[in-house]
Amino acid sequence: MIRRPIHPLPDTVIAVIAAGEVIERPATIVKELVENALDAGATEIQITLEDGGKQRLFIQDNGYGIPREELPIAVQKHTTNKIEQYSDLDFLQSYGFRGEALSSIATVSKLTVRSRTHQEDTGTELVVMHGKVGQSTSIGMSIGTQVLVEQLFAKLPARRKFLKSALHERKAILDTITQLSIAATNVAFTVTEQEKTLFYVPAEQSLVERLTYLFGEEFSQQLWPFQYQDTLLKVHGVLGSPQLARRGKPTQHVIVNRRPVSLPSLGTVVREAYGSSVEPKAAPSFILFLDIDPAQIDVNVHPRKETLQWQDESAVFQQLRTALGQHFQVQYQPPSNSPPLKVHDSGRQTLPELHSTLKSSAPTWYHALATKERTILQVHNTYLISETAEGLIIVDQHAAHERVLYNQFLELFHQQLQDRTVAELQPPMVIHLSPSFSNLLTANLETFTAIGCQIEPFGDQSFLIRTLPELLKEHHPQNVIESVLEDIANDVPLNGIDQLAHRTLAYLACRSAVKAGDPITQDQAQVLLGKLQHTSYAFSCPHGRPTIQTFSWHEVEKWFKRK
Ligand code: ADP
Ligand code: MG
Repeated sequence: MIRRPIHPLPDTVIAVIAAGEVIERPATIVKELVENALDAGATEIQITLEDGGKQRLFIQDNGYGIPREELPIAVQKHTTNKIEQYSDLDFLQSYGFRGEALSSIATVSKLTVRSRTHQEDTGTELVVMHGKVGQSTSIGMSIGTQVLVEQLFAKLPARRKFLKSALHERKAILDTITQLSIAATNVAFTVTEQEKTLFYVPAEQSLVERLTYLFGEEFSQQLWPFQYQDTLLKVHGVLGSPQLARRGKPTQHVIVNRRPVSLPSLGTVVREAYGSSVEPKAAPSFILFLDIDPAQIDVNVHPRKETLQWQDESAVFQQLRTALGQHFQVQYQPPSNSPPLKVHDSGRQTLPELHSTLKSSAPTWYHALATKERTILQVHNTYLISETAEGLIIVDQHAAHERVLYNQFLELFHQQLQDRTVAELQPPMVIHLSPSFSNLLTANLETFTAIGCQIEPFGDQSFLIRTLPELLKEHHPQNVIESVLEDIANDVPLNGIDQLAHRTLAYLACRSAVKAGDPITQDQAQVLLGKLQHTSYAFSCPHGRPTIQTFSWHEVEKWFKRK
């Protein structure tokens, strides 16, 4: 290998490399230009595309504009009217602050900017050809700014080749606009291509109105409003019902200080709060706005500002957990004077996710089960079909029974845990486990003890079982422990007795519930649906599968073209 001496890169190369960090594809241009429009106080933003934005992008706003004499400055590198010095980032209210977008776009395209402020009678137009700034000219236009981007990456064939099909680029643009339109519900957005309107939302909408526009009525009818304030954090937004949870891509938007950001770790915190109401592999839908002192976050950690860093992430997430915990109301609190059953971490005894009553804050879908007289039809020896005032329901008998039993077991289990009733095995039983199970059990011995399974290592992957929770005494300890360990191995690692208790009881419920394929009588069906109605988290089984599907009468009428 021959070594060449280190030398500085020419400015033109530096400019293109820097531009590449910011300007990746048409959607990132749209994001930057829309953010500029929002920073300028626009209430109407119109975007016109050609070929998914690859041929032409035009963005028009009614914001405060750029004065004639400043226009040539705006397209220069690192010029901004948003901050003066670095410490201003501690008070940042705007999307932009680096002064990079216009100059970067101008470096990699033919950029035309037209702008007029309300003090000016005419507008000014400035063209920058792949980095070369032209002369300003006067033009007639309304107040605001219009930016036209053509010949994107025309001088950079390698980057141009990197662009995806018009379909993909268009989708990325629409995703970007969707995000920003959720963050700015007061602003009207229109996207058109070849005279076709691809996206439209009017100005001055409430969050729910906007979500209805974007995702439809069915979606917005399954949302809980959510609001919370703590020392660090103000949170508001909506949480989707468990029915809106998805395995693939649920609708999740996080907006921190008006800025849409991607924060997977925050999604995990929300997911945890939903607990067993959502299938293990699925994630809930939610739209959350967090307001925090700008000094507590760093938005300067990503070239396109798509994510951010917290100064104290654990403190923020802790407050968020508290907020969510209060939302999924904790009903059950063990009395503080009851003798602990060798629970090492007594702060975690509450099983909050499980004891929550959703009813108080429940939206309409929750009451779908409330019904009096009804006939129940069992079909396929598995599903129960019935009606409520709102519509038609189909219930999965196994999942529903599992949920009912689980909640009953949970109550009993907690009672027994409090009374310290455990079943002592006489004599203690020795079980032998596989290496990986033995490993997993050893790591979680204390947690098992906390739920009433007193287990001791007995050498060589063997364990001595001294006690079991009263509820489990009829079951073979090896089966119970193995299936719980299997469950733990397949899923998120165990943290604390809530999860262990949950898994153990879910196992028990599943074993005891009526199976799919079991014929049941009309009376049994009545009892089951009656109980389900008074059960929290009735809409999913403890493993998160749905127990019930509802079809509103409106939907049914649409099937038959009555509406
Ligand atoms: P930044 O947004 O980080 O300040 P940009 O390169 O995106 O940097 O824009 C440079 C400057 O041009 C902005 O600070 C703003 O003053 C002005 N500007 C850009 N777009 C608009 C717009 N749509 N309306 C009003 N001013 C704008
Ligand atoms: Mg900007």
